[in-house]
Amino acid sequence: MRFYKSETSFFILIVFLGGAGIMLYRAQTALDALSPIVTGDVAKLVGYITTANSSAALFLVAALLCGIFLIYPLIRFQAQDHGKLQAMTQILSARSESLAHAALTDGLTGMQNRRYFDEALREYLVQFGRINKPVGLMILDLDHFKSVNDTYGHHVGDAVLREVARCLKDYTRYHDVVARLGGEEFAVVAPNMEREMLAKLADRIRKAISDIDIAIDDANLKVTTSIGVAVWDRRESWQDFYRRADKLLYNAKNTGRDRVCV
Ligand code: GH3
Ligand code: MG
Ligand code: MG
Repeated sequence: MRFYKSETSFFILIVFLGGAGIMLYRAQTALDALSPIVTGDVAKLVGYITTANSSAALFLVAALLCGIFLIYPLIRFQAQDHGKLQAMTQILSARSESLAHAALTDGLTGMQNRRYFDEALREYLVQFGRINKPVGLMILDLDHFKSVNDTYGHHVGDAVLREVARCLKDYTRYHDVVARLGGEEFAVVAPNMEREMLAKLADRIRKAISDIDIAIDDANLKVTTSIGVAVWDRRESWQDFYRRADKLLYNAKNTGRDRVCV
């Protein structure tokens, strides 16, 4: 059985009352030993003290009974209620943490989602702009993904998306923001990388995605991706920066797909 703080305090009080009872008992024993050998006023005084002791003992017993049978059940009831509330609060706060996590995470791939990406891009421009470091942005879109779903089914499409997410994680650094923007579109915010390095990284990612093998029966499914890459010009807003990278992605689509446009 678990005891709450208020109950423990109550038990301490009972121990003190018990201590007072023992002291009363010992005082009475001493008085009882005195009474046969005293006479006159002293005997009267012993009589008074004995009466006062008996009354004090009665009050003490009443206090103990009242405490044990009236006050303690109330304390126990309130403590249990409080305990239940506390447990509920803990469950609720754990649930709200996991909801907050879910609100920023993509359920299929476990990557950050669009909402997280928008916030992170805005924040990265502020922070890296402050220390004069470049910020790169890649937007990736899988090519002809609709036909993957149409040919092999949605579950195969989902497996491809998970593999692409894993590949992106493998090729990026811990401080890069890697997000699924929606559907078959992904983005990487890569700070502290110049244009050439970023273009090389984007091309390595493009190749790695085209090397992914999704085994279906005896065949291997291949996917390709188009990537738009831009480096922040330090003046444009995060929305304009995003739009510029998105335009480059569409250039990559319009010039034959499976390529990087910088
Ligand atoms: P493009 O090369 O021009 O990008 O062609 P596309 O077929 O990739 O582009 P489109 O926008 O026509 O199709 C995107 C497809 O992505 C359509 C939709 O079925 C699929 N899709 C979006 N979200 C999901 C998902 O969560 N799972 C799966 N399996 N498919 C998805
Ligand atoms: Mg596509
Ligand atoms: Mg798309």
